[in-house]
Amino acid sequence: MNIILLGAPGAGKGTQANFLKSKFNIPQISTGDMLRSAVQANNDLGIKAKQYMDSGELVPDSLIIDLVKLRVTQADCMHGFLLDGFPRTIPQAEAMSDSGINVDFVIEIDVPDNVIIERLSGRRIHPASGRVYHIKYDPPKRDGVDNETGDPLVIRDDDVEETIIKRLKNYHDQTEPLVNFYANYSKDPKPKSLKVNGTASPESINETLKDLLG
Ligand code: AMP
Repeated sequence: MNIILLGAPGAGKGTQANFLKSKFNIPQISTGDMLRSAVQANNDLGIKAKQYMDSGELVPDSLIIDLVKLRVTQADCMHGFLLDGFPRTIPQAEAMSDSGINVDFVIEIDVPDNVIIERLSGRRIHPASGRVYHIKYDPPKRDGVDNETGDPLVIRDDDVEETIIKRLKNYHDQTEPLVNFYANYSKDPKPKSLKVNGTASPESINETLKDLLG
């Protein structure tokens, strides 16, 4: 079961990925998380990627393609994998296809831009645990601090409004064309394309996906 999750940043890919990975017992491969780990580790990849990430640009295809190709050959991907945040461009999708990596389902989570801006600009993170809050929809018990540890919460560098708008533009320009790329995919097997309304509650999106994926 090889699944691609498409959707603008903040569409809820991570939330749905959590559900899908346990349902199908497959690993979630989040290229955003891989890149953030590299930035934290301050390794060669992280140093190269950081400037693009902070400014809301995509990192160059050459930095990410080999990383993913290698990741999907690891043992835990034997029964499938869930790609969250990859491919983000047509050349990334082509590289995957050229390497013989098949895709069973392409799931697009659709959310209007104004909703995305509200979601992301209110997002607060506890960096050590990855816990995510929202100042309006899921506030911490005490303003600005993590519920479990009391550590201060932070705004992700790329969650400032100006950068969110740039990330959305990049999504529409570079990533959304993948919907048509997979709808018109000419190789065999052709992935099945699904679209879900990402403004519904996470639980009801779960249910919809459960029905659609069978
Ligand atoms: P995400 O957490 O998926 O929104 O990713 C955060 C940032 O990492 C993006 O804004 C990009 O700068 C970079 N990134 C993640 N995945 C990719 C990808 N497949 N191609 C290019 N850049 C990526």
